[in-house]
Amino acid sequence: MVARQVELITHTDTNMAETNLPHIVLAEDEPASRTLLTRQLSKAGYDVTACENGRIALDAIRQQGSCIVVADWMMPEMDGLELCRTVRSLCAAEELGFVYYILLTAHSEKDQIVAGLEAGADDYLTKPYHKQELLARLRAGERIYLLQADLRNANKQLEQLANTDTLTGLANRRHLFERFAELWSMGQRKGRPLGCVMLDIDKFKSVNDTWGHAAGDYVLKNVARTCRENLRPYDILGRFGGEEFCIVSPENDAAGTAALAERLRIAIAESHFEFEGQTIPVTISLGVGEREENHAAPDDLIAVADAMLYQAKENGRNQVWIHTPDGAERRYTGVAAESPVAGPRAS
Ligand code: GH3
Ligand code: MG
Ligand code: MG
Ligand code: MG
Repeated sequence: MVARQVELITHTDTNMAETNLPHIVLAEDEPASRTLLTRQLSKAGYDVTACENGRIALDAIRQQGSCIVVADWMMPEMDGLELCRTVRSLCAAEELGFVYYILLTAHSEKDQIVAGLEAGADDYLTKPYHKQELLARLRAGERIYLLQADLRNANKQLEQLANTDTLTGLANRRHLFERFAELWSMGQRKGRPLGCVMLDIDKFKSVNDTWGHAAGDYVLKNVARTCRENLRPYDILGRFGGEEFCIVSPENDAAGTAALAERLRIAIAESHFEFEGQTIPVTISLGVGEREENHAAPDDLIAVADAMLYQAKENGRNQVWIHTPDGAERRYTGVAAESPVAGPRAS
């Protein structure tokens, strides 16, 4: 027990949220043996779900997602070998997380043990098993299980890092394009509208020149935050580059997207960006379009929104320009919707 505690603390220290003692799904048809095993495993500190055959165990494994399985070979309904093969194919299909599989078998013949390992078992114990040996093998499995959990968490963090712009915390350009492509095909498949906004901070160079680069960074972060707070959770906001942002708005046509853009324009213009005791005036210009029949890819829509952004800059900045599918292009001055469509706000 002391050794186990040390191991747990080590893993807690790595600060991995999902690193817990693995849950054990036990599959054993023989009641006395099932009861004894459950008692021994519980006493060793594990949470155990005891099942009387492979089919019931499969449900329990699905419910856990990741776990250690201790399964008897010979069982009614679904035996330990078939359960193992099923679990392995679910793992391969990513329908299950990590499963460490220990087969309990009365078969001590080498070729049968080979069959068990080839079905995907990680380890085996021959019956009658030795309690201390079972627990020792479980700890070996547990070490691998915990390493896998650490790896999964690390991968998740890496993915998050790879997708995020460090300064603003928004989707970076690469991730933005990924999400754009997904929403593009979904909108196309379902024949639903898709809006796009290109947004650029006005005279941002002079913010840097007047107040310094740190003030510029501060403004960038806060423009990003203000925009995020004024969007629906399912609108994608990404940093396109420099002081330029892009919004992809699913289920939104040009008019709806322009209303959203106007809301952002007002929110920024009315914000007080206070940096080191000084208020920095900030405005943004925005160009809006929606996916059109003749667009082959997201780049075509971006080009439309970008052309409208150019118009907004040319015509005096701090304004929204809209291109509608009928080819009309104009400054948008419509009254902005009061607030985003009801729903949980993104943090
Ligand atoms: P316009 O209204 O026409 O958009 O003028 P502008 O000054 O905003 O545009 P310009 O493209 O001339 O300048 C953009 C500036 O943004 C220049 C660049 O130094 C600054 N910039 C880009 N990325 C960052 C950043 O991460 N931090 C800071 N502080 N400045 C940045
Ligand atoms: Mg049996
Ligand atoms: Mg600019
Ligand atoms: Mg720019």
